[in-house]
Amino acid sequence: MTNDNKNSTAGFATRAIHHAYNPQDNEGALTPPLHLTSTFAFETAEAGGEMFAGDRAGHIYSRISNPTCDLLEKRIATLEGAEAGLALASGMGAITAALWTLLSPGDEVIVDKTLYGCTFAFMQHGLTKFGVTITHCDMTDPDNLVEAISDKTRVVYFETPANPNMRLVDIEAISTIAHEQGATVIVDNTYATPYLTRPIEKGADLVLHSATKYLGGHGDVVAGLMVGSAEVIQEVRLVGMKDMTGAVMSPFNAMLILRGLKTLALRMDRHCSNADVVADWLEAQPEVLKVYYPGLQSYEQHGLAKRQMDQPGAMIAFELAGGLEAGRSMMNRLEMIQRAVSLGDAETLIQHPASMTHSTYTPEERAEHGISDGLIRLSVGLEEVADILADLDQALPRGTEALAAE
Ligand SMILES: *Cc1c(COP(=O)(O)O)cnc(C)c1O
Repeated sequence: MTNDNKNSTAGFATRAIHHAYNPQDNEGALTPPLHLTSTFAFETAEAGGEMFAGDRAGHIYSRISNPTCDLLEKRIATLEGAEAGLALASGMGAITAALWTLLSPGDEVIVDKTLYGCTFAFMQHGLTKFGVTITHCDMTDPDNLVEAISDKTRVVYFETPANPNMRLVDIEAISTIAHEQGATVIVDNTYATPYLTRPIEKGADLVLHSATKYLGGHGDVVAGLMVGSAEVIQEVRLVGMKDMTGAVMSPFNAMLILRGLKTLALRMDRHCSNADVVADWLEAQPEVLKVYYPGLQSYEQHGLAKRQMDQPGAMIAFELAGGLEAGRSMMNRLEMIQRAVSLGDAETLIQHPASMTHSTYTPEERAEHGISDGLIRLSVGLEEVADILADLDQALPRGTEALAAE
């Protein structure tokens, strides 16, 4: 491929728009072509055989690779500062393909206490069926990992900020401890995006994304991405993706994510500045008991947020004084803000983790893992921030309702 490294020293937004694509290689087309093809014709029988043997470069079949996905893989790799990338059908496709590739019966995965609901379910009910041990460890204090880790630990896995309660994990400290035991560090970077945090630079081995969220950014596609060393990515491509899950990204979806990435920097700046205002406003309301947002001075891990994130992101979790009932009634009164799961879209979205995204946990597990029943999750969108505040303001329970017992 030509032009791969031409822009590798350029800034983030420039690489998100130009990296690894030259219109002159494609009849001058400004926008990269969409290669909607399942299979690729071999010039000769011998050439096809050589590609299968790995002795010749080229595309064989779109469950292995495709030129549109290939460009997206190069773009996410440069944005994350990684050697190689891989495009998959969904965030869950990325998570499962990585873990099916790396793990064998008898291995242990150490995970942080808080995980996205379906990741938790895959670990808890999926991997354990095949003889993998899942150990939960509160990684907000790295010393807990020192205690938990052993020579059986093959993978150390976490989200930062974690979905839904915004806990942060120190990527550098955790990676150092994990590597001393030879474990692979996997970070789900969906909430932060590479615009705010680049885990590879801090020592992580593999970084996963639900590209459905900020990377796509427009709520029109379900997709996953992964980056890491060229060697591990090739292994996940040929084992976890090609043979074990078949969770390949459609080239059409790759085109949508490529389009989303072009405005990632712009969108994240606006998402973050809106969220900053919303978090301050929520914290000032007497009806709001607690706001979890890394940008707040009052946030327990504010120091780590400043070290690890270029900006605090646009996900906020909060609890109302009136608990779950007050939260439900607030959600039902919202007019512009939409009640929906997913996040990172132009639209501000609100949801209730305990009954929605994290209902894969039992109530006891939620209590144990720090996901309270009253917690509300807000994905701050790109609307005028005054309109977001106005909608929250008219919906917030006041007076006696604000304090109603659950
Ligand atoms: C949404 C989400 C996922 C799952 O991604 P899908 O694209 O929905 O499969 C994984 N991790 C986090 C943190 C998420 O928010």
